[in-house]
Amino acid sequence: MTDTTPVFHLEPEVLLAYSAGSLDEANSVLTATHLALCPRCRHEVARLDAVGGILTTQLAPTALASDALTAVLARLDEVPSPVEDKVAAAIDDETRHWVPEPLRHYIGTSLSALPWKRRGFAIHELPLSLGAGSVRASLIRTGGGAALPAHSHDGVETTLVLRGAFRDDSGRYARGDVSTATSADDHRPVADPDDECLCFSVIDGSLRLTGRFGRLLNPFIRI
Ligand SMILES: [Zn+2]
Repeated sequence: MTDTTPVFHLEPEVLLAYSAGSLDEANSVLTATHLALCPRCRHEVARLDAVGGILTTQLAPTALASDALTAVLARLDEVPSPVEDKVAAAIDDETRHWVPEPLRHYIGTSLSALPWKRRGFAIHELPLSLGAGSVRASLIRTGGGAALPAHSHDGVETTLVLRGAFRDDSGRYARGDVSTATSADDHRPVADPDDECLCFSVIDGSLRLTGRFGRLLNPFIRI
């Protein structure tokens, strides 16, 4: 594995929303997983957390419930349950290598054991139960050199590369990089030829395929 510092980062507004705790679950997991791979954004979130802490201390104090301290101390004593140990043991080295926490926790098993759904030649998708409303989260796994169908979408598509790399009109995205595409983009990502590409994708809004095969492929991505 060649771990390099990411070149493409999350938008500042996303980091601010993450720090404020106002992101939805799927985007929070994606952000936290990018932070695991990106010292620059970790530093920025720490800075935002510090600012948030100062603002919080300037607000009027609120009385805590009488058992609040006991509850917090009890949480510190919590140890992983036998079930969690069993899940951890089921995750193979490949998955540990490529999938950082907290995303690994949500997957809960090895990449090879997941029920991937075929979405085209050398393209597989694993929908994750993280999305709510119009938010959809999934893992996308493509073979080296594979091209995803050209598409645009009504919302924002955020893609975090976990393994390999892909290119589109806006650049080349490798491990740790985040691609943010809006409804104005109509892109056709192509994976680098020398390795498979594994991405974590969160789409807020509904996909709308364009291009030659768009109409054909639409049913396969459950629009
Ligand atoms: Zn970053």
